[in-house]
Amino acid sequence: MAEYLLEASGIGVRFGDFQALAGISLAVAHRSIHALIGPNGAGKTTLFNALTGVRPPNAGRIVFGRHDITRAPAHRRVRYGMARSFQVTNLYPALSVAENVRLAVQARHEREGWVFWRAPQRRDIADEVQAILERIGIGERAGARAGDLSHGAQRSLEIGMALAGRPQLICLDEPLAGMGIDDVHRTKELIVGLRDAMAVLLIEHNMSVVLSISDRITVMAQGAKIAEGPPERVRNDPAVRTAYLGS
Ligand code: ADP
Repeated sequence: MAEYLLEASGIGVRFGDFQALAGISLAVAHRSIHALIGPNGAGKTTLFNALTGVRPPNAGRIVFGRHDITRAPAHRRVRYGMARSFQVTNLYPALSVAENVRLAVQARHEREGWVFWRAPQRRDIADEVQAILERIGIGERAGARAGDLSHGAQRSLEIGMALAGRPQLICLDEPLAGMGIDDVHRTKELIVGLRDAMAVLLIEHNMSVVLSISDRITVMAQGAKIAEGPPERVRNDPAVRTAYLGS
């Protein structure tokens, strides 16, 4: 097995005359938590969009597992095992919590091309849905309307829907944004638990959480990488301090 699950090299993205990403490289190891941090406007979301296929880069190459996905559409990346949870909620608010996850599980079965004689039974799907809900800590809310969940629980549900695809890499865009302290703690534990089965790439502004859970941190500023390494190294990097404090 290659050391890295995802390897992006020389990624460049332009918006007209504006160079939002200037040839940035990033490698995410298997079963690791890799954080992407940097001041607003650094290019974190643009890089996420390039990696997940929302907006392919103008330059560079992205390899995921054995696949060159530089120009692959988002749905093919999902089939290869890449999942993304968005900053804006992406749920069906009128459906129950369990139904939201069930749709995501069924979407995976469809992608896997189940044929009738070996189609999963309703019972198997229900068990899988319940297992996901337990894992994300909202098993007891299975019958609730998704739209009635707290903000924190909705974000967990989105992670659950991404897990239904059985990804090798899950990309989380500010998973802790807008959460109270209890939800932050719960979601942090959930993210740490994901590492047993997959790699996690996350954009997150909560620095104490990023420093405590990440295996590796990439720091961006003005479309370029300014530092990278384990938390203790990044925390003490003078370029990082300057980027954040402007001094
Ligand atoms: P971050 O996620 O780190 O806050 P972004 O990736 O959102 O940064 O933005 C990086 C830079 O690219 C910013 O200067 C932003 O204004 C610019 N940008 C992002 N999206 C677009 C777009 N669709 N058109 C033009 N400029 C954009």
